[in-house]
Amino acid sequence: MALMITAECINCDVCEPECPNQAISMGEEYYQIDPNRCTECVGHFDEPQCVQVCPVECIPVDPQHVENRETLWQKYQRLQQAGQSLASAGPATAPPSAA
Ligand code: SF4
Ligand code: SF4
Repeated sequence: MALMITAECINCDVCEPECPNQAISMGEEYYQIDPNRCTECVGHFDEPQCVQVCPVECIPVDPQHVENRETLWQKYQRLQQAGQSLASAGPATAPPSAA
């Protein structure tokens, strides 16, 4: 499931740098989560990092974006592939040396 940030957000800016998927950004009035980028931290961490750090506990599951772990994993892999094609100059994952 993607998570969402509610209006209780105090714009403390703590969660944004913790997100491994760059899914969090400032919205019109308070921070928001891009459901296309939030994997609930699947692929990176055992627990959602934004929830761990939020001081006012305003990051519930988004009922509009209910996803199971398999779907989140596929989203994670899609994001990884997109990131690698963007950073094609850097050998982030070295291929096996044996050709
Ligand atoms: S749950 Fe993880 S991926 Fe989703 S917004 Fe929070 S830190 Fe980012
Ligand atoms: S950590 Fe919580 S209160 Fe702070 S910006 Fe993120 S969602 Fe808002």
